[in-house]
Amino acid sequence: MSNELREILINSAYILASILFVLGLKMLGRQATARRGNMLSSVGMLIAVVVTLLDRQVIDYTWLLGGLVGGALIGLACARLIKMTSMPEMVALLNGFGGLASLLVGGAEYFRISGGTVVPDHPAFTSSVIYLTILIGGITFTGSIYAFCKLAEWLSGRSILFTGQHLVNGLLVVLTVLSGVVFVVSGDPEIQLMALGAFTLLALILGWTLVMPIGGGDMPVVISMLNSLSGLAACAAGFVIGNNVLVVAGCLVGTSGVILTTIMCKAMNRSLGNVLFSGFGAAPPPSSGEASEGVIQGELKPISAEDSFAVLEAARQVVIVPGYGMAVSQAQHVVRELGEMLEENGAEVRFAIHPVAGRMPGHMNVLLAEANVPYEQLVEMDAVNPLMSSMDVAIVIGANDVVNPAASRDKSSPIYGMPIINAHEARTVICLKRGKGTGFSGLENQLFMMPNTRMLYGDAKGSLQGVVSEFKSLADG
Ligand code: NAP
Repeated sequence: MSNELREILINSAYILASILFVLGLKMLGRQATARRGNMLSSVGMLIAVVVTLLDRQVIDYTWLLGGLVGGALIGLACARLIKMTSMPEMVALLNGFGGLASLLVGGAEYFRISGGTVVPDHPAFTSSVIYLTILIGGITFTGSIYAFCKLAEWLSGRSILFTGQHLVNGLLVVLTVLSGVVFVVSGDPEIQLMALGAFTLLALILGWTLVMPIGGGDMPVVISMLNSLSGLAACAAGFVIGNNVLVVAGCLVGTSGVILTTIMCKAMNRSLGNVLFSGFGAAPPPSSGEASEGVIQGELKPISAEDSFAVLEAARQVVIVPGYGMAVSQAQHVVRELGEMLEENGAEVRFAIHPVAGRMPGHMNVLLAEANVPYEQLVEMDAVNPLMSSMDVAIVIGANDVVNPAASRDKSSPIYGMPIINAHEARTVICLKRGKGTGFSGLENQLFMMPNTRMLYGDAKGSLQGVVSEFKSLADG
C-alpha cells in the first residue's frame, strides 16, 4: 500500500472516530441516551487506538503490550475496588495522570528531536507546542494530585492563603513565560535544555500553588477546570506528535471541561477569577453588625422513623433533596422505594437536584439513575425553588451545604450568594444525617435548628428503611 493511500485511510478512520466522539458526547447529555452515547464514544476510541497501532510509526509492540496489560490490570482493579463515594478522588487522579502523560510525551519528543534523528520542518512551532504540552501537563499533574489529597482528606480541604501569595504566583507565571520564550527562540541546545528543565519545574510548582487557595465549597470548580486542562494538554501533545485524533479528543475534553467549569461557577454564583483568587472561607471575620445574621440559634429537634412516617403519610407534595450523605450510605435504592410508596399513597414526589450536590458533577443524577428513579421526577434547582413553599414535606437526605440558608441570608458566610435548594421553605423539613457533622465546606447550618425542621438521626439508608417498613406495614395491615 502506498504511503499516500495509507495516510488517507488513517485520517479517514480518525475522522470517523472523532464523529463518534462528538455524537457520543451529545448523547451523554440526556439520561435516556447516555449509555448508548458512552458505547458510541468507546467504539470511536477503539477505532482510534487500533488505527494508531497499525500506523507505520509504531516500530516495536513490546512496550505497548506491557502498557496494555499493565493498564488493563490497574483499570480492572480500580473498577472493582474504588467505591462510588471515592469517584471524585479517582477522577482527580485520572486528570492528573492525563496531564503527566502529556508532559512525558512532550519531553520524549524533545529528546527524540534533539537526539539528532529528526529536524522538524517548523522548529519554532514544534518547540512552542512542546512547551505548551509540558506547561499545561505539569500544572494539571500537581494541581490534580493536590485536589486528590484534599478530596481524600489526606490534606486539609480548606483553602490555604499566605501573605504575598498572588505575588509569588505572579512571579512564577512570569518566570514560566520567560523560560518558555528562551526555549522557543534559543538555538543553543544547552540553553534550551536548561529552559526546558526550568519551566517543567515551574509548571509543577504552579499546579500546586494555584490549587492551594481553592478549597471548601469551591472544589467542584477546580475539578472541572483540571479536567479541562488535562484535555488541553492532550490536545497540545497531539500537535507535538502530529496525531490528529489526539488533537480532536483533547479539544473535546478541553472545551467540555470549560463548559462544565462555567456551569459549576454559575451554580455557585461566582466568577472563575473569584474562585481562583479569593480563597474559600479565608475571608476576614465579619464586622459585629454583620455577624449577628450568621449566628446559629435554636435547638435540634429529633424525630423517629415512626413519626416521620406519620408526617409523610399525610403529605401530598413531597420533595426529596439528596446530597453527599446519600452517596455515603448508598441509600439511592431505598430512596427510590420510598418515592414509589409515597406515590402509591397519593403524594406527588419530586427529586430536587443541586448542581454541586455530592462530590462530583452529576453525582446525584448518576446514583438516582442507577436506582432507576424515573428521570421525569428529577427537577433542577431553578425549577424546584419556586414550588418549595407549596411542598408539604422536604426530605433532606445527607445534604448540608446545598440547603444551607446562610447562602442567601448571611453576608458573612463564605457561601453567601451561592444558590441553594430552598428546603427551609417547605412546611415541614425532615433532615437525615448521622449526627452534628458539617458539610464539605465545614460550615454550620441554620436549617437544622429551624422551627419547621426535624432531625432523623442515623445512617440515611437505615433511617429510610425504617420509614419504608412503616409504609409496608400500613400496606399489609
Ligand atoms: P455536604 O455539604 O458535604 O454534607 C453531607 C452531609 O451528609 C454531612 O453533613 C453529613 O452529616 C451527612 N452524612 C454523611 N454520611 C452520611 C450517612 N451515611 N448518612 C446520613 N448522612 C450522612 O453535602 P452536599 O449538601 O451534597 O454538598 C456538597 C458539598 O461538596 C458542597 O460544598 C460542594 O461544593 C462540595 N463539592 C462538590 C463537588 C461536586 O462536583 N459536586 C466536588 C467537590 C466538592 P453527618 O456527618 O452528621 O452525618
